[in-house]
Amino acid sequence: MAERMTHQPFFYGNITREEAEGYLQQNGMSDGLYLIRQSRSNLGGFALSVAFNRECYHYTIEREMNNTYVIAGGKSHNSPSELCEYHSHESDGLVCLLKKPCNRPKGMEPKVGPFEDLKEHLIREYVKQTWSLQGEALEQAIISQRPQLEKLIATTAHQKMPWFHGIISRDESEPRLLNGQRINGKFLLRERDDKGSFALCLLHEGKVLHYRIDKDKTGKLSIPDGKKFDTLWQLVEHYSYKPDGLLRVLTQPCLRPDLPLDSIDLSCPPIPQNHPRNGATGGIFSRMKSYSFPKSGSKQKASDMGARAKSSAQLNPYETRPGNKKQVSKEAMPMDTAVYESPYADPEELKPKTVHLDRKQLILEDGELGSGNFGTVMKGVYRMMKSEKTVAVKILKNEDNDPAVKEEMLREANVMQQLDNPYIVRMIGICEAENLMLVMELAELGPLNKFLQKNKHISKKNITELVHQVSMGMKYLEENSFVHRDLAARNVLLVTQHYAKISDFGLSKALNAEENYYKAKGHGKWPVKWYAPECMNYFKFSCKSDVWSFGVLMWEAFSLGQKPYRGMKGNEVMQMIERGDRMESPPDCPPEMYDLMKQCWTYKIEERPPFVVVERRLRDYYYDISQ
Ligand code: AMP
Repeated sequence: MAERMTHQPFFYGNITREEAEGYLQQNGMSDGLYLIRQSRSNLGGFALSVAFNRECYHYTIEREMNNTYVIAGGKSHNSPSELCEYHSHESDGLVCLLKKPCNRPKGMEPKVGPFEDLKEHLIREYVKQTWSLQGEALEQAIISQRPQLEKLIATTAHQKMPWFHGIISRDESEPRLLNGQRINGKFLLRERDDKGSFALCLLHEGKVLHYRIDKDKTGKLSIPDGKKFDTLWQLVEHYSYKPDGLLRVLTQPCLRPDLPLDSIDLSCPPIPQNHPRNGATGGIFSRMKSYSFPKSGSKQKASDMGARAKSSAQLNPYETRPGNKKQVSKEAMPMDTAVYESPYADPEELKPKTVHLDRKQLILEDGELGSGNFGTVMKGVYRMMKSEKTVAVKILKNEDNDPAVKEEMLREANVMQQLDNPYIVRMIGICEAENLMLVMELAELGPLNKFLQKNKHISKKNITELVHQVSMGMKYLEENSFVHRDLAARNVLLVTQHYAKISDFGLSKALNAEENYYKAKGHGKWPVKWYAPECMNYFKFSCKSDVWSFGVLMWEAFSLGQKPYRGMKGNEVMQMIERGDRMESPPDCPPEMYDLMKQCWTYKIEERPPFVVVERRLRDYYYDISQ
């Protein structure tokens, strides 16, 4: 939302209350003159500053759980701008009506807060080190989990700050502040206990003052009778520009003694001349950019363990071993699972040159995961060089000695072998033994449509997250010139409630360099309700026809696994499309999402958006609705 607000000329970004008053004064202080700024205490919130009777009034605009915005006790609105619009004709508790926006001077961009600047770096370092990811896998993790990562970083970032000294006593804190230069305002934060109580320790005229920081029932942090903050870094930021009840402002962070000098990240901007080790004063956050993300206590870097992080049960709640089942947490991120990266991403885990796997290393378990055209899909365990993977094994029916069916399965294996993306079910290999078997990554929660039918309580945000992940997988196929040709909710498998993968490449084709479509020779057993008009009329399949199918998949997802075009036959659906009619919006579907479905169902191929555009639209909407 902050990104959207930047387009509003009366939004100033991360400015202080005093700066807001300055702008209102410069613009004449007429009654009802107003501006919006980013809240410096409330995550995702804003503040409204209004002039009235030559005075400035400030109101906190809180972001509510359902992504609406409210001034305490007032009406909820979809955005801060909508709230301003409402208060331009209803004072509803405000000191006066909002009459005139106080626009930013020409050429001035909304101010980016110091933490915003640091956030990107922290997120990247966190993902890099926690899941030991790099390259595309790192980028994809950040794109798909940005809202969760931002929240994680915002609420835990203090642990990475050099002024945060962890659990130390009052007595331990004092010598730390008194050592070295005794600059007034030198400070540190310490944890008082493990119940979320902290202390701010501040040096003033050679004495150390200790201020308690308590957490209230809603999780807000404050010194007694002081302003409340969502995070400790916001508290530090606030008291470093204004004493607001403290004896003085915070000036210089007292560095944690365990902060290793070699934690300076060479990929970061060069270490400034006034490196904090030299005791120089300066911005509270800017200097911290020079530090890499310190290793968090219990978590070791994968490289330190001589094995990839993926083999650590602690880091990887999904990793299962026979007889030692661990449940993946409902809120786990895709990177927490064993199937985020290819099993062959580990250089020590050699990919067989031929895709053929050794039958002796494959154990089939009882119980069927599902069945399809070829036969059954069973759960199993495949013993790799270094680890054991729980897998799904597609087994060709024995009685099917039909070479055409075998050929079809080998074609599917051939396509899958060329793909490597976190949002696509990867093939581990094929095994020719008592049957022909296709060994794949396991997506235990099964097909998306069935999952949604059974879990109707699932939130719109969760559905958007999953559909966005599918669009990321499809964008990858588009970039690599593959057409799926059977994209539907039944062919999206869930690893967790927050992790979707595209499967079933039985009809897929690699496109050749000259043409951007595949021309089928004739009609087959086709999923007509998912097919674009050009597939039915000209047998032409392209990434754009997958986009059409993706629209149907979105419809299925937002209608919680309902069948599309209910009660209609294939030819009736075709007639409906040719007439220009489209399916109606699923009940309670966000209008932004229905609008995107309709765009996917654009009749003319040239006018239909490609996945690169669809993914971006979903990403923007997902970020927008995520806390
Ligand atoms: P298919 O023949 O590919 O349509 O697969 C038939 C069914 O087997 C699917 O609907 C799933 O229920 C199950 N299945 C297929 N592949 C997997 C997998 N990789 N992980 C978990 N279940 C799977």
